[in-house]
Amino acid sequence: MEAYLDNSATTRCTEGVRDVVVRAMTEDYGNPSSQHRKGVEAERILRDARETIAATLKVSEKEIFFTSGATESNNWAIIGAALANRRAGTHLITTAIEHAAVSEPMAYLEKQGFRVTYLPVDARGHISLEDLEKALCEETILVSIMYVNNEIGTIEPISEAGKLIKARNPRTLFHVDAVQAYGKMEIRPRKLGVDMLSVSAHKIHGPKGVGFLYVNEKTKLQPMMLGGGQQRGMRSGTDNVPGAAGLAEAAKEAYAQLGQSTEHLLSLKKRMMDGLRDLAGVVIHSEEGDRSAPHIVSAAFPGVRSEVLLHALEERGICVSAGSACTTNKKVPVSGVLKELHLPKELAESTLRFSFSRFTTDEEIDYCLGALRELLPVLARYARH
Ligand code: PLP
Repeated sequence: MEAYLDNSATTRCTEGVRDVVVRAMTEDYGNPSSQHRKGVEAERILRDARETIAATLKVSEKEIFFTSGATESNNWAIIGAALANRRAGTHLITTAIEHAAVSEPMAYLEKQGFRVTYLPVDARGHISLEDLEKALCEETILVSIMYVNNEIGTIEPISEAGKLIKARNPRTLFHVDAVQAYGKMEIRPRKLGVDMLSVSAHKIHGPKGVGFLYVNEKTKLQPMMLGGGQQRGMRSGTDNVPGAAGLAEAAKEAYAQLGQSTEHLLSLKKRMMDGLRDLAGVVIHSEEGDRSAPHIVSAAFPGVRSEVLLHALEERGICVSAGSACTTNKKVPVSGVLKELHLPKELAESTLRFSFSRFTTDEEIDYCLGALRELLPVLARYARH
């Protein structure tokens, strides 16, 4: 048997997504910028994709820009907004537990003379609104806060943060990395006071290498990709029609089944957490309840290093993650996020992330729990020698 419990790293494409991508690659393969029939067909696919996505957020299709994924969306939102609004101020705010696709652009801007405040988090990964309020000042031009943390599943208080930011200064821009939230919950950027929102297709059963950035029409943002002037001059490059079509199909499917999927994910999460609680010594980092995402469970297995347990599970056909898969090639076993939670080293070094999708089954969870039950006593004994 196999159990794929690494859906926060990436997901399997659905058959519906595969079909629209193949069609766009083999039949409707024109360049949307071409003036002949093939181009017009491709342009229509792109327009439909933009409309489908805009409808999931209840925004205008003019506010959706396709990118190569959330890394590009985050880089563009942060660097593009900082450069476009530099005259209004040079202060930026973010959290200490962002994905590298946010923290690295922030570090880059620090080198360019911007000042960045990193909001700390509590033991469960939540920022404090008081800290945000204290950090906001006349000079603040941009705040970037992730919706759902990719390692432990914490949901940040986006709505409350949006209100605070806009009450203090309506011109301060608010960017949200919604990679782990989109498709898992209803998101209304306008109501939330969010000006820019980053999304990636491959986390929601879409293709890799495509995503989008929502940009409120009033937002001052500098383009980062200069060239042929596609996407109204904001993001040049021949349009990725198969990617956009696949992303739109994935979004449509995710939102059509949102209620059922959420219930299913919550029951998987409960099953996993109950099972983990029955194993001696396990420390669960993720919370239950509405301040935590339904698809991520992070837990420590003291006495067993995470990479040892990860590979022992892998031998049994079980895929999980130690920290965040997107940054593991840095060969730093302990993630920045776990450090920010002030976990003792032993817990941080023995943490695994289990992440689910709406296609994950009870059997996969039970198979993984069964394997952990067998492996943990053996590996812990081995580790002591
Ligand atoms: N932001 C978060 C929270 C993520 O989890 C990831 C991927 O793991 C990214 C950004 C990067 O997304 P992409 O793979 O589309 O570049």
